[in-house]
Amino acid sequence: MATQRWIHCGLCFQLVAKKDIKFYHLSCLDVLCRACMVKTNRGTVCPVCNASIRKFTELSECMSQREKVLYHPAPNEFYHIACQTLLFQQRHRQGLVKAILEARHSLRRLDQLEAQIHQKVVETQRRYENLRSFRRNLQDNMRKTMMPAGGSSACTPLRIRKVRRPGTQGHPMEVCVFVYVA
Ligand SMILES: [Zn+2]
Ligand SMILES: [Zn+2]
Repeated sequence: MATQRWIHCGLCFQLVAKKDIKFYHLSCLDVLCRACMVKTNRGTVCPVCNASIRKFTELSECMSQREKVLYHPAPNEFYHIACQTLLFQQRHRQGLVKAILEARHSLRRLDQLEAQIHQKVVETQRRYENLRSFRRNLQDNMRKTMMPAGGSSACTPLRIRKVRRPGTQGHPMEVCVFVYVA
């Protein structure tokens, strides 16, 4: 473990960097030099904070990962990594939320289009029925005029008659039809 200038004994303030002596990390998060460890009542009470000592470990590579992290030489790196992780996850979350909102908007638009198409179908159906009715009437009229009662259609002259028929948007329009008149 790299020696750092701030690590010192919490009791006698001996610096780790200055002396080649052993230091210990206590479970109460205090640090003691080897000399001050004799004041822990056989490793049970911390002389700095008076807390019970559950565990103490020599400051070395043998410490657990959780203990080592406390002595990390560049803790700012944690913030840097955490910041990158946060931004990365946030960007992906925002992408997902955006896609969901766009899909909802598309669904609303599709509903509107479906309603418009349905309206067009109804209008077209109505116009078709009107035209069919008009054709039927026209055929009836032609049949009647071509075969007058008691006469022959062959000798009846051809005339042009104007007939009103349903047009677009409810406005009737006049068309010319050829009929035989007596
Ligand atoms: Zn000490
Ligand atoms: Zn302590």
